[in-house]
Amino acid sequence: MVPCIKYPNCSKCPPKLSRDKKGKDYTCKACGAKRMTLWEVPTEKLKAPDVTVQDFKNVLKHAFSSVSPEELEQYTEWTKQFGQEGA
Ligand SMILES: [Zn+2]
Repeated sequence: MVPCIKYPNCSKCPPKLSRDKKGKDYTCKACGAKRMTLWEVPTEKLKAPDVTVQDFKNVLKHAFSSVSPEELEQYTEWTKQFGQEGA
């Protein structure tokens, strides 16, 4: 078993509701996706998905620089003046 790449897996997948009854089968009749939490997956059936380039692309969409270009310039200037060791 692997997580769905996107949720829902298909347009027919039953939506996840906070008031879902326990014990009811929410398996999608169209695509066969089973809805469950990570902790409900039997250990021996859990397969960590392979990391792909797309995973990195997805992360980069939400990543932002923690240092501004102006700050980088200041660091460059400082390094020119004092060197890598700062002495
Ligand atoms: Zn489905």
